[in-house]
Amino acid sequence: MSYRALISHLIGLSAYIWLNSCVPPPSQPEIPGTDISAASKTVEPEMDEDVVPTIIEIVEPEISVEIVPVVNTSVDRSQITFVLPAELNAQHLRFIDKSLREISDKSVKHILADSVQDDSLSVLIAQTIFNDLLTNIPNYEFLSATASGDSLFINYRLNKTFIDHIIKPYLDTYAHPAQKPISPLFTSHHNPPAIESVAELTLLLPCEDSSVPTQALLLPNAPRNYRSGTHRGVDFYVNWGTPVRAVSGGIVIRADHHFEEVQPDFRVQLLAQAKQLGHTPADVFEHVLVGQSVYIDHGFDLVPGYRAVSIYAHLSHINGEIKPGVTVSAGQMIGLSGNSGTKDSTLGTRKGAHLHWELILQDKGGEYYLGQGWAMNELSNLLLRIFSK
Ligand SMILES: [Zn+2]
Repeated sequence: MSYRALISHLIGLSAYIWLNSCVPPPSQPEIPGTDISAASKTVEPEMDEDVVPTIIEIVEPEISVEIVPVVNTSVDRSQITFVLPAELNAQHLRFIDKSLREISDKSVKHILADSVQDDSLSVLIAQTIFNDLLTNIPNYEFLSATASGDSLFINYRLNKTFIDHIIKPYLDTYAHPAQKPISPLFTSHHNPPAIESVAELTLLLPCEDSSVPTQALLLPNAPRNYRSGTHRGVDFYVNWGTPVRAVSGGIVIRADHHFEEVQPDFRVQLLAQAKQLGHTPADVFEHVLVGQSVYIDHGFDLVPGYRAVSIYAHLSHINGEIKPGVTVSAGQMIGLSGNSGTKDSTLGTRKGAHLHWELILQDKGGEYYLGQGWAMNELSNLLLRIFSK
């Protein structure tokens, strides 16, 4: 049941209970566990000669509105019970609405925390889920409402179908990439290269004194919600202006010597289109998001059966001799790190400088990236081995 439907249901329910409690009709329909009229009944104190007369307070319906709304959640979060005054008002409905949102958020995060081991990634996946889905996550469904005395008990239960069909696919995609193929940036008919394909692969670190990050957020397969895409590379957080070198020998196929940053609004507009598409279009990625870049073609020697191309993105400078068609050797300096292509760069700042590096692998079936489909717990170790040269 949607919130809108639920709220109109509750308004109806509230009106029904209100009418019943104010004007108890002679032929009042029986609701199980309901004794709505009790609250408004006038109780005559019995005058017993041996007992000091006690005054029994008559509880008027308007006083029962003062019942503080309570929400009880079961330990496993599968059940929620709201205890509210029998006479609901708009404030109570807002309380239900607000509480459901909060519990839903916590509940999704709880599910994510159990499934996603890396904190940085679980936060990002949660954001992705919240941003991609409607703000009203139908995480709990209305189960029943029972009136008892002055109180109304409204029960909700966890919507398992929603979790299984909507949230779980996200988890499979981002938290367990090995279990489910990720939708590729480009057309692909085959599965990404198996780990065995890169068993012999060794590369130089693109920045000499850097190290392979361990945070899943900075590694391949991490969600990139701002562009409705998936991170294909490794983010090396190095200072602005850190020398960048070729990870292996090859031929330069792209070098943006005359790079000009785009206007902030234009970048925002492109990202909005990516959002509409549900993925990052290749042109937006290639021409705007990577910023000032160098691409190096390593031919078919680096990874058997695949053409390998390394990408060095967000640069602030490219060395003059690095031009398409020029052969570079492993470790040859190609430029300096920066933040081109990022939001900060469009705003004219040097914030968030890092080197985005990725290795594209192509075969007859399509195009993949190094690390695609690898389980998160393997990624760091595999990259550490590859960059142990
Ligand atoms: Zn990156």
